[in-house]
Amino acid sequence: MAEVKITSLHKKYGAFHAVRGIDLEIPDGEFTVLVGPSGCGKSTLLRMIAGLEEITDGEIEIAGEVVNEMRPRDRDVAMVFQDYALYPHMSVSRNIGFGLKARKMSKAEIDGRVRAAAEMLGITDLLDRLPRQISGGQRQRVAIGRAIVRSPRIFLFDEPLSNLDAQLRDEMRGEIKRLHQDISTTMIYVTHDQIEAMTLADRIVLMRDGVIEQQGAPLDLFERPASIFVAGFLGSPKMTFLPGRLEIGDKGAAVALGDGAVVIPLPADRPLAGATNGMSVILGVRPEHVSRAKGQDLGPGHLRQEVAIDLLQPTGSRSYATFKLAGMPVMAELEAHDVSRPGETIAVDINLNRASLFDAASEKAI
Ligand code: ATP
Repeated sequence: MAEVKITSLHKKYGAFHAVRGIDLEIPDGEFTVLVGPSGCGKSTLLRMIAGLEEITDGEIEIAGEVVNEMRPRDRDVAMVFQDYALYPHMSVSRNIGFGLKARKMSKAEIDGRVRAAAEMLGITDLLDRLPRQISGGQRQRVAIGRAIVRSPRIFLFDEPLSNLDAQLRDEMRGEIKRLHQDISTTMIYVTHDQIEAMTLADRIVLMRDGVIEQQGAPLDLFERPASIFVAGFLGSPKMTFLPGRLEIGDKGAAVALGDGAVVIPLPADRPLAGATNGMSVILGVRPEHVSRAKGQDLGPGHLRQEVAIDLLQPTGSRSYATFKLAGMPVMAELEAHDVSRPGETIAVDINLNRASLFDAASEKAI
């Protein structure tokens, strides 16, 4: 059974339509990440699930029960916010246990639960401190601890790592993933960060302008994006988009880039449903699918090209190199020692078996 079922959900703020008809089912125990650019409505959707925002139209069910009119505290969900929302005058221990007091739980049981959560999060030493006496990362652990002690049926996270520096964010991301592995409770997590979405999610729900653009397992979205928007949102560095014209002939299909100076043959087995000869298309190539050519030609589906590297961005383990193809910049992910300086000319292999193709007019995948 779906733990959360959302049907035709809408939210209007006055004349502004922030959520415009969302249908979504979230199975019990799944880690779902709502992701999308700023303003796409993901926080609004999460807040409606929490009961913090009134629903304009549609329905939200939790465990088979419609909760549209149910008060937040009766929904048995726990929310972790970006700004932690801790009580400054209360110790860490009291902050974590606060919600349990209201439930009239005995002091012994509250203490037991607070200790267990603190141990899970590695903050047992901090229980007597005040929020201002601990770091940002520790505060976020306290906020998560406050959610854990309630044993909610759903955890809701609203950009919980946004206020942390990059290193701490990576560390906390791992801890949240481990928490889900350990307790297997349904989690719904809002972020605008595609790396957080890719690494945490069982399922990504990618939103745009108040609707779902595509949802599915992270690798499905990454490898089979339904639109240019999805392809461009997931992946860092970004996919390179090359406008061209589709040529379908006796010998198969190809994309002629720019004025036709470079013609890229498509793999023979590539489905081209709905595509027509001469149509304007966008070829999408990820940096990791362009490599330095070594040895034998790689065969069908691979294109070997001599290119001049005009920009090199080493990261230590890899090196991102930019070159021009039919006058358009393309990025390759090379091994660290493949190229030593810009200006070098090398041969690259472009793996077209992994490339995406989009209709330039609709921006949808072909
Ligand atoms: P962000 O990552 O920036 O938080 P988001 O995708 O979470 O973005 P929401 O916070 O859900 O976006 O907001 C969606 C849209 O609704 C935005 O355009 C926002 O300005 C608008 N909005 C949100 N809350 C209100 C409000 N209380 N009154 C009016 N408009 C609002």
